[in-house]
Amino acid sequence: MLIELTPEQEEIVGTIRKFVDNEIAPVASQLDHADEYPHAIVEKMKELGLFGATIPIEYGGIGLDYLTYAMVVEELARGWMSIPGLINSHLIMAYIVKTFGTEAQRKKWLPAFASGEKRGGLALSESDAGSDVQAIRTSARRSGDHYVINGSKMWITNARYGNTFALLAKTDANTDPPHRGMSMFIIEKGHPGFQVGRDIKKLGYRGLKTCELFFEDFEVPAENLVSGVEGGGFKFVMSALETGRINVAARGLGVARASLEASLRYAQQRRTFGKPIAEHQLIQEKLADMATKLEAGRMLTYAAAKAKDDGRRVDLEAGMAKLFATELAMESSLEAMRIHGGYGYTEEFPIERYFRDSPLLLIGEGTNEIQKLVIARELLKRYPV
Ligand SMILES: Cc1cc2nc3c(=O)[nH]c(=O)nc-3n(C[C@H](O)[C@H](O)[C@H](O)COP(=O)(O)OP(=O)(O)OC[C@H]3O[C@@H](n4cnc5c(N)ncnc54)[C@H](O)[C@@H]3O)c2cc1C
Repeated sequence: MLIELTPEQEEIVGTIRKFVDNEIAPVASQLDHADEYPHAIVEKMKELGLFGATIPIEYGGIGLDYLTYAMVVEELARGWMSIPGLINSHLIMAYIVKTFGTEAQRKKWLPAFASGEKRGGLALSESDAGSDVQAIRTSARRSGDHYVINGSKMWITNARYGNTFALLAKTDANTDPPHRGMSMFIIEKGHPGFQVGRDIKKLGYRGLKTCELFFEDFEVPAENLVSGVEGGGFKFVMSALETGRINVAARGLGVARASLEASLRYAQQRRTFGKPIAEHQLIQEKLADMATKLEAGRMLTYAAAKAKDDGRRVDLEAGMAKLFATELAMESSLEAMRIHGGYGYTEEFPIERYFRDSPLLLIGEGTNEIQKLVIARELLKRYPV
């Protein structure tokens, strides 16, 4: 790594590195192939405080800044890309409560999120509305001291084993633009009218269950409306997704780094034509490109994280980091497969997992096509003629 870490960052990242080497990397492929939820890893993550990684200390979290958080996420993803998915949308939910919730909501939810007692994620997407968030149809109608939710949500990470979600719903279907009628609720399982659908089978990002959520006259207390005021939900989500994009960018770095590290090892062990393949210049070119782009991806990701820590909106920076680092994960995992030859294509090595895990990063947290639109929009805003 070209960047020098502070002693505190060294300590935190070192702890996570050991956790990954001892408890994630050795079981990742086995759990991935069995599509098995990592219960034991979740328990250890609770002990390490990772469910409260970016939650302020006064609310029971460990209060990491986003820069250190990005380093932690890179480490976790190096072991298994699914693992930071356990905390990504969970911490987005926490960010929404922390940043836009009332003090009563912060006190009620954040300590429980930080301990992992209440954990879950973000429920935005629907079967007919992914990139176009304003097209959602799930409704929330006020009725006395509660809201009645009807509709469904698609692709929800942590839906099976999570218990609490930040739900985006329409409290007014007639506003122009539509986002003015969108509100955010914290919802909990265990009440009538809230059902979880089947586990959706996926190419990668296994272990974590992705499911549809169904709501039929599901009643949510009015006090669970984030901020206590209707109409702010879309704005909350757009601000929160910046932190999600930093997480996804860092996951891209983790997969790219795992691909590079495996390739460096293998290229020095595998021999062809009387010498290690690391001595062939075409292999050296691959290693040099992978390492150089990894450092460039880190610079972009750390710059976005640092800007978020400074309290700025970072659509441009987080968009660039997410775009570059996730395309890099795809590219590096494919290069690692080429370097490993036939072995890279088998389940004997983790490369096939890196290759199957990478495409989700291109799609989640806003597709990379959408990132390009966001980047261009911000550029045109910043440099008008
Ligand atoms: C495994 C997994 C986990 C997920 N977890 C969650 C979760 O926890 N919570 C949640 O809310 N959502 C989640 N999602 C949903 C994810 O955020 C969406 O899949 C993503 O935003 C894309 O939406 P879509 O699938 O509807 O694709 P669409 O929006 O239908 O897009 C299809 C294609 O069209 C392109 N496109 C769309 N609009 C434009 C445009 N204006 N210009 C150019 N190209 C465009 C897209 O880039 C894409 O290539 C998850 C998805 C997956 C696969």
